[in-house]
Amino acid sequence: MRLNPGFDLRLAAFTLGLLAAFAVSAAPDLPNVRVIATGGTIAGAQASAGDYGYKSGTYDVNTLIGAVPNLDKLADITGEQVVNIGSQDMNDEVWLKLAKSVAAAQASADVDAIVIMHGTDTLEETSYFLSLVTQGTKPVVMVGSMRPATAISADGPGNIYNGVAVAVSPEAGGKGTLVSLNDEFHYARNVVKTNTTSLQTFESINRGPAGLVHTGTVAWFEPMNKKLGKATGFDVAKLDKLPRVDVIYAHANMSADLIEAAVKNGAKGLVIAGVGDGNMTTPALDACKKAAAAGVVVVRSTRLPAGLVLRNNEVNDDEMGFVASGELNPPKSRVLLQLALTQTKDPKRIQEMFYEF
Ligand code: ASP
Repeated sequence: MRLNPGFDLRLAAFTLGLLAAFAVSAAPDLPNVRVIATGGTIAGAQASAGDYGYKSGTYDVNTLIGAVPNLDKLADITGEQVVNIGSQDMNDEVWLKLAKSVAAAQASADVDAIVIMHGTDTLEETSYFLSLVTQGTKPVVMVGSMRPATAISADGPGNIYNGVAVAVSPEAGGKGTLVSLNDEFHYARNVVKTNTTSLQTFESINRGPAGLVHTGTVAWFEPMNKKLGKATGFDVAKLDKLPRVDVIYAHANMSADLIEAAVKNGAKGLVIAGVGDGNMTTPALDACKKAAAAGVVVVRSTRLPAGLVLRNNEVNDDEMGFVASGELNPPKSRVLLQLALTQTKDPKRIQEMFYEF
């Protein structure tokens, strides 16, 4: 018997539907990724396509996830918005809130890996902070972008896609926080922003990237030999604030004024972005010595982009009671010193932390 054409079509559609349903149920389970958004240029919009300027933190997490082609083939994604700000406004309060969100995702049976969208300006600080305080070992990958979401050739969607690919790659767990942009990914401890506008701005200057990621294919290079997460002993779960630490930039003719003002305003720690190997003028050095004697922890870092700040080189750290930052630049030294001060004011113990973390 010949069925009418309309029925034929309905039968074909029904059969296809059954096949599709079977294909879906037979497909392997995708990993569950929690995408946490905090704003930044990756969520930014221009007022019009021809505008150079833009506003960070305009779009919400679900809009941004929805704009990434094929992301649903890599992972089952759930979004969470923690704040929606330019990362130039990042502060201790948001860090602690973010750490709690990451801790909740680490503890959730419904989450296999975490991706965090963040502005690029302070990404090197937030990533190091999270790397030091996150207790779980599920992967945490941070992504950002240099061009707003509305730009011609926006880099955000590609960076989100690659960030998720790194997060679900089998080797990503237990590596602390990773930062993935422009086809590279880096350990939080090493990565710094090096260029004001270029897409190729994040670099691990002293060490090189942790690996490369190209359209979702991940290659790992470098192991990480520093302590992170639980091994640091830092636990911010119950904290609602962090000690004040100021960074002071050294230069020719530097006076003691800003150092004295920082101490007077309640800084518990100072990081000097020193000249050369963490150096500064004699008046500045004297002010730091006085601050250290009064119980303020002084870390000597450098304003230079590469190299180590070595202990007792031109400055006698033993005599002055200072800490040498080693590989850590001023913003990262500030993060570690804030966390260190939640446990101790002893410069010797803090020096060990700078070597080990
Ligand atoms: N000012 C922006 C931010 O850090 C820059 C960016 O995301 O690239 O939020």
